[in-house]
Amino acid sequence: MTIQYCALGSGSRGNSFWIKTEDTQLLVDCGLSALCLGRRLKSAGGCVDDIRHIICTHSHRDHIYGICELTRQQQAKSLSVLVWATPKAHEIATRNVTRADKRISPELVRFLPEGMGSVRIGSMDITVFPVPHDCPGTVSVVIRSGGASLGIATDLGRVPTGLPEALSNLDAVIIEMNHDPDMLRTGPYPGHLKKRIRGDFGHLSNAQGAELLKKIVHPGLRHLGLAHISETNNRPELALEAARSVLRQCGSSAEVFACEQNRHGIVRTIGGPRPEPGDGAVKPLF
Ligand SMILES: [Zn+2]
Ligand SMILES: [Zn+2]
Repeated sequence: MTIQYCALGSGSRGNSFWIKTEDTQLLVDCGLSALCLGRRLKSAGGCVDDIRHIICTHSHRDHIYGICELTRQQQAKSLSVLVWATPKAHEIATRNVTRADKRISPELVRFLPEGMGSVRIGSMDITVFPVPHDCPGTVSVVIRSGGASLGIATDLGRVPTGLPEALSNLDAVIIEMNHDPDMLRTGPYPGHLKKRIRGDFGHLSNAQGAELLKKIVHPGLRHLGLAHISETNNRPELALEAARSVLRQCGSSAEVFACEQNRHGIVRTIGGPRPEPGDGAVKPLF
């Protein structure tokens, strides 16, 4: 069994990842408008009608913005779609929402574990791990199907005990490299926002992301995605260089890529047989 995945968009203006196995398709976060999401899915080779589940890592707008519209669209087409969130994330998403059209229909909501734990969605095992962020109920996610495994860890102010272990030995990981501390310090954001971003409940810097990478890189790591890269306080080249430096030090041949805000990435595949050295060569008869 293989997992295919694609970053549909990542950054402070919206995050969404498309994950697909033979029989199950889901989104991790839905922070783009339903229209934008549908267009990007189509452009990446998918179809929004095939999305049956949305995993919500937390309730910040850049992770949930399109959920209501998308679920309403699917319901109008008599297509089932379930929204998975921790009880706290769900409570925050629905708190103070009075308009029915802005509220996720309660019958569509399914709960993720409040602490570390797993749920089964179709052919995927989803393990969630609580992380420190200024939105209660925030989780990082590891998805396993057959022998394939993918971790997604964005929106965490610091790396909590146990997270590197949860992200170790995976085929692919997508980790946050939000900001360059110097760019953040000298940039245009107001002081309180700078403090929030670099704080223990904000976002990981390139250096913090690199430290996390050092703990989880292993010979079997095939892909490394860098996500939630700030358009104001970072540059993809800086994040990529921070990651490549660790991969070089550790002798890793993992492919590294930066997830973009304004367009989807390529669809990557993990799992399945790995090419053996010498495969394709003519085998001797004796
Ligand atoms: Zn975010
Ligand atoms: Zn957030």
